[in-house]
Amino acid sequence: MESTMMSVPLSLDTLLERSGRLFPESEIVSRLPDKSLRRHTYAQYYRRTRALAAALKKLGLRKGDRVATLCWNHHAHLECYFGIPAAGGVMHTLNLRLSPDEIGWIAHHGKDRFLIVDDILLPLYQQFARHHAFERVIVFSFSGDKVEVREGDPHAGEPAVDDYELLLEQAPEHFEYVEHDENDPIAMCYTSGTTGRPKGVAYSHRSTVIHSLVQVMPDCMALSGHDVVMPVTPMFHANSWGVPYSAVMVGANFVFPGPHLHPEDLLDLMQAEPPTLSLGVPTIWLSLIQLYEANPGKWTLPAGMRSLVGGAAVPEALIRQFAAHGMSIAQGWGMTETSPLATLFFEKQDLIGKLNEDQWFARRATAGVPVPLVQLRILDDDGHECAWDNKEVGELQVRGPYITGAYHEVEPDPEKFTADGWLRTGDVAAIDKDGYVRIADRTKDLIKSGGEWISSVDLENAIMAHPAVAEAAVIAVAHPKWTERPLACVVLKPGATLESEALRAFIAPKFARWQLPDAIEFIDAIPRTSTGKFWKLKLRELYADWAWKSE
Ligand code: ADP
Repeated sequence: MESTMMSVPLSLDTLLERSGRLFPESEIVSRLPDKSLRRHTYAQYYRRTRALAAALKKLGLRKGDRVATLCWNHHAHLECYFGIPAAGGVMHTLNLRLSPDEIGWIAHHGKDRFLIVDDILLPLYQQFARHHAFERVIVFSFSGDKVEVREGDPHAGEPAVDDYELLLEQAPEHFEYVEHDENDPIAMCYTSGTTGRPKGVAYSHRSTVIHSLVQVMPDCMALSGHDVVMPVTPMFHANSWGVPYSAVMVGANFVFPGPHLHPEDLLDLMQAEPPTLSLGVPTIWLSLIQLYEANPGKWTLPAGMRSLVGGAAVPEALIRQFAAHGMSIAQGWGMTETSPLATLFFEKQDLIGKLNEDQWFARRATAGVPVPLVQLRILDDDGHECAWDNKEVGELQVRGPYITGAYHEVEPDPEKFTADGWLRTGDVAAIDKDGYVRIADRTKDLIKSGGEWISSVDLENAIMAHPAVAEAAVIAVAHPKWTERPLACVVLKPGATLESEALRAFIAPKFARWQLPDAIEFIDAIPRTSTGKFWKLKLRELYADWAWKSE
């Protein structure tokens, strides 16, 4: 017997069509370089996005061609998210925080044909232009300045320069979506490649539509057309966690911070355009809440705001601080390879009313439960599946319809994918009897001391619970006797004082003695990665020559 269902391919185009028709008045607010706000309705968004697709087709974009973007978070970047695939192209977001050489390498490896770039990022483009010859550079006047249009010279490797707004104005009125299979690619992102070269992940219509449907579920992000979403997560990092797609699907309103990501700017924006849902890595919210608390009465935080926080371990202290100000944090875990949402906290019905306050916050500090369609297993060193007891730790592996099964144009690597079809995440985790996942560490950040493992994440969590501590990162430093020992790098809040011994005594009740850091270094700032996370690799380099007093 066969099913009687239509075999209609899953398609981003249907999401755009629906939201353009159903939610013409939903709003997209973007912060411009001069800090003023620009507003667009979905009616305008829909028209402009289709115009972009029509313009790209007119310029000769073929199915599967890559169009790179080098842009901050704003309405035009959102137009690219749907407009490039609507023209049959593949959007390739370039991470503007990488070094120019890396960006150039990635654009070249992706064989990007066109580039859409914010005018204020043209100086950055100039720095990597020699690594890759784009055919066309389409400049979006984010600053409002005039764009100088130029013919290209293919022989001299000079790309044509177009004005984004002019292209949209002159786009053919008639536009038809490009036919596609649901498995055709629509976007690609490169992982930041902390080891080896960055690797490309290519998302499909199918993976993106399914990820969007899962994301908006009430027991997931509960994202609806009533929401005002503020994606602080860059649109060049794992597709801003997929929210541009899912929020457009449900007609949600957007507030985009543009290039202004300092805590003060974000607080100003949240006051002017209060979001109901925000997204970002923990470091963003750590600095924001500290600034807010240091300036009583200066800002009003949006009461009831939900925040999806992930990309790195979320300290329990941060979740408590948010709660004290009437906002909630749900921690998620994911990777560029997983579209990215793979686990997310939500309060399962059978836990309601059963946890005391401390247990409740401890549960909230987990990475949550696997979201629908994501299969997850944790394997110990012998390849046996760990029990769901929150004690056994092992390598977290995942599979599912929006998890990558390979890297773009890279030979299959058994270090990354198992023979039976699972992605090896490189994260070490445990899972409890209720299915809540605790990420203990990245494999490379675990501290191996005398044959035992110490979780840097657990130590950081405990240290950041101290009221004088602003930020902390714990790293492994080579030790002649114990192989490695933990060293804690701690940033104090402005004006605060704290002695190493007092801090050690504060965290001591939570750990065995041998797990406590042997040294605590008070520093001014913890270096950040290109995606805004604590850059432990850099710290390890800085402390590579550390001499232990006890040696
Ligand atoms: P990058 O390597 O630039 O950080 P990704 O954003 O793809 O690229 O990072 C994915 C990694 O981020 C995961 O493998 C994991 O180590 C870390 N991560 C993501 N979410 C969490 C979380 N909630 N807790 C701890 N680590 C996390």
